[in-house]
Parts: sequence; C-alpha cells; structure tokens
Amino acid sequence: MNNQIETEAFIQGVISAIQSVSGIGPVALHEPEFDGNEWEYVKECIDSNFVSSVGKYVDKFERSLEEYTGSKHAIAVSNGTSALHISLLLAGVGQGDEVLVPALTFVATANAIVYCGAEPHFVDSEVDSLGIDPEKLRAYLQSSTSLIDGHCRNRISGKVIRAMVPMHTFGHPSRIRELLEVCKEFKITMVEDAAESLGSYYSNQHTGTFGLLGTLSFNGNKTITTGGGGAILTNNSDLAKQAKHLTTTAKVPHKWRYVHDEIGYNYRLPNLNAALGCAQLENIEFKVIRKRRLFELYQEAFESIRGISILREPTGSRSNYWLQSIILDPQMASTRNQILDRSNGMGLSTRPVWDLLSTLKPYKDFPSMDLTQADDLVNRVINIPSSPQLAVVKNEA
Ligand SMILES: *Cc1c(COP(=O)(O)O)cnc(C)c1O
Repeated sequence: MNNQIETEAFIQGVISAIQSVSGIGPVALHEPEFDGNEWEYVKECIDSNFVSSVGKYVDKFERSLEEYTGSKHAIAVSNGTSALHISLLLAGVGQGDEVLVPALTFVATANAIVYCGAEPHFVDSEVDSLGIDPEKLRAYLQSSTSLIDGHCRNRISGKVIRAMVPMHTFGHPSRIRELLEVCKEFKITMVEDAAESLGSYYSNQHTGTFGLLGTLSFNGNKTITTGGGGAILTNNSDLAKQAKHLTTTAKVPHKWRYVHDEIGYNYRLPNLNAALGCAQLENIEFKVIRKRRLFELYQEAFESIRGISILREPTGSRSNYWLQSIILDPQMASTRNQILDRSNGMGLSTRPVWDLLSTLKPYKDFPSMDLTQADDLVNRVINIPSSPQLAVVKNEA
C-alpha cells in the first residue's frame, strides 16, 4: 500500500478492532486462570507433605487426561519438551536418523529431535490449518526419497527418515488423517506435537491420539497449566509402560533397593503441579467454550476491515482456539511490524509467529524442502490477546 494516510487508517483500525474485544489494556497474550479447586488441591499436597514426584494427584491427573482425550494411556512428565524427547526415543528415533518437522513451529519440537541424536528435516505448511501440507509433502518425498529395506531414505543425505512430528498450530488441528496416509505410504512413524491443542478434535477424535505417540504441554501460557508440565499420550500399553519407566529414572520397583536397569531421565511431574493440573482440567470445557466465543467476537470486530482476516478452525475439526490469529492480506504484509510495534507499545500484547526454525542459527544447515508457504505466513500472521477471561459466555443453566 503506497498511500500513507490509508496505511495509517488501516493500522489504527486493526488496533481498535483488537481493543474493542480485549479492552484498551494492558492486556496479556494468554493468561492463566485459577478459578476452581486449585487452592484446595495444592493445599492438600502441602498439608500431606506429598509435594514431589509421587502422590495421588499424579495418578489422578493421568487418569483424567486419559478420560478427557480418549487416549488409552497418559504419562505425566515435567514439560512438553521432555514429553517430545521420550516419545521420539520410543518411536525409535536415534543417531543418524532424520525426522520431518514443520519449519513453522516452536523451537522445542526440533530441539527434542536433536536430543535424540537425530536431525530435523524441515517441511512446509499450508494456509488453512497452519500445519504440514500433506500433498506437497507427498510430492516431495516421492521425488527425494527411496524405500530401501522397508525404510524411507533421503536420497541426498542417505539417512533414514524415521519419524514425522506434525504440530497443531495455535490449537487448529492439522490434516492429520492425510498426514497419517503419507506416513503409512513412506513407512514413517508419527509422533504428534499436541502441545497447543488440548481440547481440539479432528473429526471428533482428540488431537495427539492419531500417531503412535502424542505430546501435551501445560506451560503457563497454554490452555491449561500446571506451572510447568507435559504428558505423553499413547494407545500402546507396552510403550506407555516404557514411557513411565524412562521418565522416572528407570528405577525397578522394589521396597528399598535402588536398581535402575537403563539410563533413565528425571522427567517426573511433581504432585504439586499435578494437583494444579487436576483442578485446571475440571474446568477445561468452560475455558474452551469462552475461547471459541472469543473467536466470534474478534470475527465480528474485524468483519468491516479490508485487508485482514481472522483464522478460523479448519473444516471437520473443533479447535480450542488457543491463540487467536489475524492474517494480513499479502498487500498488507508490510504493515506487520508497525502493528506489532504500536500495539505492544500501548501494552496490548500481540506477537508474530515464530521465525522459521530453518533460519535459526542452530538449525540453518539442516535439510529442508521448499518452504514458500511457511515463509509467506511468517510475514502475515499476528497473534492477538487470547485469554478465555476476555470472553463472557451467558450462563444458560
Ligand atoms: C509449548 C510448546 C512445546 C513445549 O512445551 P514446554 O512445556 O514449554 O516444554 C512444544 N511444542 C510446541 C508447539 C509448543 O507450543
């Protein structure tokens, strides 16, 4: 846009539209909310001295997560990154392997791959879901890999592409069934990063339950929080047992001996944090309902502004709308930084999406397919205040 007055009016319009929903601020991007049994459960941990790595809330939290997600097993761990690390190890990812991962994700997704001694192989995303584009990926794999001894081999590096880690961006489900088809076709194991999508469903099935393993995060900015925490989901009972064992120092159960039968990890979720999680999970549906309502409010607020749209859930899915996103039309992309600068300057928290991982210093030399779409999205997507507290839903009881 070359008319300075029109540009200024556009930026002002965008900020006013955000404020008409979020209030004038200061307002956070995503704030936790403790309005249930949090105090009671945490107090019980302290009163009973069970604040650390064992206690009834850890078990209760795991069973509640199983019930809520429909996953056969849930293993609570210290955070979403450790959940990814262990899930990838259990998927057989190790030294010399490559793992397909969107370039458009939080850095933890790729870090966990490197913790296993493997290399991330960056793939492109699509506009509708902000997740991996299954058709583009299939065409890429057809042209650049060969099936040798039942393994998908990168013809350039000669390495085995062992796994794929789709991520459900800002809570919007990726086209996970199509991605599963690609995995099947190319003999690749799927581990889902559902850190952002607790409460999101793809054709009525909870995200994180499609792959061999899936992971959740309960960091302070996520839909529900345990302070810090995460979980591994799987329908495979044997993998669930191994996940529990590996994340709890690989200690062999015994009344008093310390026997560890492999190198394990201290990735346990303390009882104190699990207590918080139990209380948070009791209220998750109410949080998601308000986050979905918030989307409608923003949609109305942005309706009359040309040059921008608000991201809606992909067809056939139910999103938790973890972070609300506005997308600038291509001809408005040049206003992104001004919108970010101006809004944050007023205490109105807005954020760009992550820089593509393939452009970060530690990741710039890893293999990558063409990333045209992800690159374009980086310049046009802005997250706006998304706390459930911003939406009021009438009590229809
Ligand atoms: C939050 C997040 C994680 C990691 O979670 P932590 O609990 O902070 O370790 C991983 N992947 C994605 C996409 C996330 O948003």
